[in-house]
Amino acid sequence: MDVSALEAGHLNIRLDLIAAGDQPNEPIVCPSLAFFLRHSKSDKRVVFDLGIHKNIKEFAPAATEQFLPDVKQTVAESLESGGVPPSSVDLVVLSHLHWDHVGDPSPFTTAEFVLGEGSKKALSLEPGFSLNPAFFSSIRVPEDRLRFITASDLNVAIGPYPRAMDFFGDGSMYIVDAPGHVDGHINILARTSADGAWILLGADSAHHPDLITGNMQVAYRVDTDTGAVTCIHDYKEVAEENIRRIKLLLEFPRVQALVAHDVVWYEENKGKEVFLPHKIPPLVQ
Ligand SMILES: [Zn+2]
Repeated sequence: MDVSALEAGHLNIRLDLIAAGDQPNEPIVCPSLAFFLRHSKSDKRVVFDLGIHKNIKEFAPAATEQFLPDVKQTVAESLESGGVPPSSVDLVVLSHLHWDHVGDPSPFTTAEFVLGEGSKKALSLEPGFSLNPAFFSSIRVPEDRLRFITASDLNVAIGPYPRAMDFFGDGSMYIVDAPGHVDGHINILARTSADGAWILLGADSAHHPDLITGNMQVAYRVDTDTGAVTCIHDYKEVAEENIRRIKLLLEFPRVQALVAHDVVWYEENKGKEVFLPHKIPPLVQ
């Protein structure tokens, strides 16, 4: 798989929402990265996540107030400027349905949309309504072109992941069950060279690379009255186990991992030749 990064908008995230312990109050401006993948054998075109909608304010007012999104370039614009018309994309894989990953599905007029089966829960919500308006928008995905990855599809193990789907059947792109963040959260593990380099596209498995190394721990708050735990992940312990899997994955040679809001990678790489039409180079060692 050839893998390219796509600019897809930014949002402000407070570090104390994502990392435990004393964190600065100042929010950090994070990307909401999306990716273009090309299956070199068949030329199939895949987009992973759609970032933020240009008019997100109309669709997710509560999220807009809290996270101050800013979209200079949408996924569709990033594709166009890289020479890929959105109408030519075969497959749009969405890690989950949070507002900063659904973007604007409308330019993808012929693509099949792929979601984890657990996302059905969020889809059943009425337009404009959600369990948590800070995290969901009223943007709809085309339900007539929607495929759900079911438990029986996730029938192979790869690296540290016990549940994955060999999407093209040739070991080039796996959809992996990456549980914990929300129901149905999926990632892509792609083979980026014939001699064994890989990339994990981790979406919201973690919100900062230091959470993967263990330099940061997942944040949570306990309500002193009710004892209820609030966390950016719906299932904190499951999310932590998923993060440990990424750490294990990175112990394999020539594997890199990129989460959607990886501010460290972004600050090092913005404007560089890793965005479409260029490719993220496979690791050489
Ligand atoms: Zn999310």
